[in-house]
Amino acid sequence: MPAVNDDKTATFDKATKTITTTRNSKLQYGGSQSVYCELDRLDVSDYNVARVKYKSKDFGFLFNFEYDGSYLKWYEKATYCPSYLNEMVIPLDKKYKKLKGIYFSVYSMPHAEFVIESVTLEKVENPVKTDIYLSDEPPVIDKAASGTIDANLDAWDFVKNIGAGLNYQIFQDAPSFLDFGVDIQPDMLSRPTKAQIHFMKESGLNGIRLQTNPGHGKILDKNYRIAPGYIRNIKQVVDWCIEEDMYVILCGPFAEWTIAEEYKKRIERGDSNYAAYYVNEKDKKESERFLKAVWEQYAKAFNNSYDERLIFEPFNEPVDILHEHGWSPKDDCAVCKKDYEILNEYNQLVVDTIRSTGGNNASRFVLINGLASKWEPVTNKNFKMPKDKAKNKLIPTYHDYSMGGSAAAGDYTDYYKNRIKESISKRFAALDKAFFSKHIPVLVGEIGQTRRTPILERIKWIKGFMSEASKPNRSCAAVLHNDSVLVDDGHFFSGYYDSWKLKWYDKEFVDTFIYGMQGKEYPLSAEFIKNNEVKIESIVGKNLINEPFDTKKWGANYKINSDTFVRSVPESYKLEFVIKKTGSSPTVQITWSDENYQWHKTPGTAKKIKGGSLADGNVRPSKTTFTVEIDSETAKTIEDSNGLYLMGQDVIIQSMTVVE
Ligand SMILES: [Zn+2]
Repeated sequence: MPAVNDDKTATFDKATKTITTTRNSKLQYGGSQSVYCELDRLDVSDYNVARVKYKSKDFGFLFNFEYDGSYLKWYEKATYCPSYLNEMVIPLDKKYKKLKGIYFSVYSMPHAEFVIESVTLEKVENPVKTDIYLSDEPPVIDKAASGTIDANLDAWDFVKNIGAGLNYQIFQDAPSFLDFGVDIQPDMLSRPTKAQIHFMKESGLNGIRLQTNPGHGKILDKNYRIAPGYIRNIKQVVDWCIEEDMYVILCGPFAEWTIAEEYKKRIERGDSNYAAYYVNEKDKKESERFLKAVWEQYAKAFNNSYDERLIFEPFNEPVDILHEHGWSPKDDCAVCKKDYEILNEYNQLVVDTIRSTGGNNASRFVLINGLASKWEPVTNKNFKMPKDKAKNKLIPTYHDYSMGGSAAAGDYTDYYKNRIKESISKRFAALDKAFFSKHIPVLVGEIGQTRRTPILERIKWIKGFMSEASKPNRSCAAVLHNDSVLVDDGHFFSGYYDSWKLKWYDKEFVDTFIYGMQGKEYPLSAEFIKNNEVKIESIVGKNLINEPFDTKKWGANYKINSDTFVRSVPESYKLEFVIKKTGSSPTVQITWSDENYQWHKTPGTAKKIKGGSLADGNVRPSKTTFTVEIDSETAKTIEDSNGLYLMGQDVIIQSMTVVE
């Protein structure tokens, strides 16, 4: 094998037979970090398998044959050799007679090391691939006969003590295009270690939320038996957290990955390693079987050895992913109404399943999600807290992305603007009514915002959230969400926590959150504030249309991000349009939708138009230059909208300029 591959992201050390891969900061998958073993069109017609003997420490690796005459389909043809085995038998594709070479690579790990002892070509009786799920390990059962748990501890007092937590996605991100067995394959995170958990505790975090997804490649059969190795891996991390005296939320499966192409393909071909629950009528029966099986196993694996610091959460973001309102359920929709009922039943089922395992689980705290884990559904009249034999042990939970969260979110904003402040007050008012006023606490299972948003805006926002969360008549804890992917490609939250270097990015933000959840204020230095000051230039006199926009008879729209209008315009202003008429009924419509996605038409409360008239909320220009007055109230609603849209007919809009 060549000692170094072309882009120097993988090396092979001849003396120790060790392959080391490193990854650039940019996302790159598959072939780019590989070592190639050139076989020079070796005739393999006398063989039917390759036997690979290896040792890998933290992660497994990918093995790819390259045949003469075949196009290398990386993931379709790759075989994952897991870290917990030392030998793999991989059949040759008998369609081909000659082998050009073999690639050794890793999935997406920034760093990996493995030793290839040998690869031999053989002819065997039964040429089948090694089953990486095969294990004679018994189920993981917590055998402690008795334990201690404070059965009288009230959820209200309990949640008040939790403080700040971190969402640790170590068991979440396993990709589904390959079989990774029970190996932990977190996208970009390093393997979990005790040192990492210690680092989190030292940073001031008091809790960890462990999202798990057993249905994603960790199920062994049609009875939804979870691979013992997977539960053992979870248990190891939970134990480290408890040793550090942290709270741990063990979160059950996801609902939204069932729409992924790879997942659907696997279900179609009857792959029993993959399973999930759906929040819908059609799949309810099977989903209940799945949820019950998962929680019976989790609850038996974690019982008397764990006191109240271990908290169960039945599932992550239970969304009816196949329904158009899945992420924002509507009261006037029959499907959504049914979904509320179904989720109420799922919550009840999981609580009952947990309680039925007895011991400490009879009085363990359980988090209860509403549809999609959003605040509106959990405070909706159709949501019901489960009935529980244990007293004051159920804690409602929701996810808070009041600034939009990831940069890919439709209502993502860079500024802590008026609408965000109001929406935080609004959700806490709803939580007051539904829970706090009844002495029921709330745990915010995820809160976060992409690092792309200016840090001082994020700090203002998290402070705004905490000033509500910490009011004395409320009991609230929160878990910071960040992504394992540290590079910002616009689709992710971008990670705050670097598991490879044990360091934080944007530590001032993280510390503001941690301190705030402890009821303290993190002191930002004058220098930090000065260096990160958000400077916004006035847009008065600036044309906001990049190139002439043809309205194409209502067939097109032009969007201007509402952030454009934040702190960049006077309290009231005018929009000056220059147009070219292309037909007999020139019309320009100026619209925007508010936080409830209700549409508004300009000029709203402003009635003054020069160079045209108003008809049905649309502007009928009489001249090629016209102005629309935006009064201060309309200006506020535009700033807080989901964007300003231009539409119309018989007109090409050449420019739209803000004028005083
Ligand atoms: Zn609906």
